[in-house]
Amino acid sequence: MKLQELTSYLESLAPLAYQEDYDNAGLIVGRPEMEVHRALVSLDCTEAVVNEAIATNCQVIVSHHPIVFRGLKKFNGKTYVERVVEKAIRNNIAIYAIHTNLDNMMAGVNAKICETLGLKNCRILSPKHTLLKKLVTYAPQSHADAVRNALFAAGAGNIGNYSETSFNAEGTGTFKGNDQTNPYVGEPGKRHLENEVRIETVYPAILESKILMALVLNHPYEEVAYDLYSLTNQNQQVGSGMIGELDNALAEEAFLYHVKEKMHCHVIRHTEYTGKSVKRVAVCGGAGGFLLKQAIAAGADVFITADYKYHEFFDADGKVLIADVGHFESEQFTQQLLYEIITKNFTNFAVRLTEVNTNPVKYFI
Ligand SMILES: [Zn+2]
Repeated sequence: MKLQELTSYLESLAPLAYQEDYDNAGLIVGRPEMEVHRALVSLDCTEAVVNEAIATNCQVIVSHHPIVFRGLKKFNGKTYVERVVEKAIRNNIAIYAIHTNLDNMMAGVNAKICETLGLKNCRILSPKHTLLKKLVTYAPQSHADAVRNALFAAGAGNIGNYSETSFNAEGTGTFKGNDQTNPYVGEPGKRHLENEVRIETVYPAILESKILMALVLNHPYEEVAYDLYSLTNQNQQVGSGMIGELDNALAEEAFLYHVKEKMHCHVIRHTEYTGKSVKRVAVCGGAGGFLLKQAIAAGADVFITADYKYHEFFDADGKVLIADVGHFESEQFTQQLLYEIITKNFTNFAVRLTEVNTNPVKYFI
């Protein structure tokens, strides 16, 4: 298939617009129209991973971390980043990164950690604001159903676990077309009163053009009246970190044993025990220290993340047990997640999990 079919699908699950400002997710090397038969999935795209792609005839590498993060100014092979990009181009291998846009999804990196640790009732720890908008439109009663259906099909009306949400109120619309018009009801030059339904529904801002297209195509009027509102509501489906609960509370030490085993950690760096048992657990794959306040505010007994620095451990301040499990360890299941989401949609497309352990951190025990 064309590479674009794969990337469009991945972006329908984790839209690029949901990546953080500093990120560089998306198609990094390769042309959207190139043919791909086999994908190699990895957490990092290192030289060893490109070599594996060449040896196993994979035309695209789908990695979590973008190999190119900052601007590249020279291509003379001096750094591993330059060498990876050059080797991929020379061998006609595409590189695609699905990074913080996947971190920020409900069914993303953190959900996989929660699943691994057996957490229930999981929700996003820090939902994004300003990603939602509201549409209000007015349809003649005869077409209210058709308009609503089209809006829902285009992605409007989803709140939490509910879909097809809208508010509808009947009222009277008025209009008078000039002599250039050919109104659906009424006559040009005469004021017309029509029984209409005011339909209100929310939608993710990134779907706006699709939703407006659906509205215009399924509304009978020549000029469709609608209002768009910016909202400051949280989008519960998109954001950083996740918090969930254990079925049965565990003592702190027992919980860390559980984490060590399930997440294959060589070592867990943690703060002093708080003395409380562990029921509520916040997680954030990768460097999640920026979420500590939210984890404490949400009542987390433990905050599992990575890349904690010495001074940052003090911020636990006896309120929570911080457990740094390692960056690679916290995100290792992302490879499996990518494998699952690609194979689920493309049953005849070969996907390979990398055999390279790309963790740059080694432990001397
Ligand atoms: Zn990471």
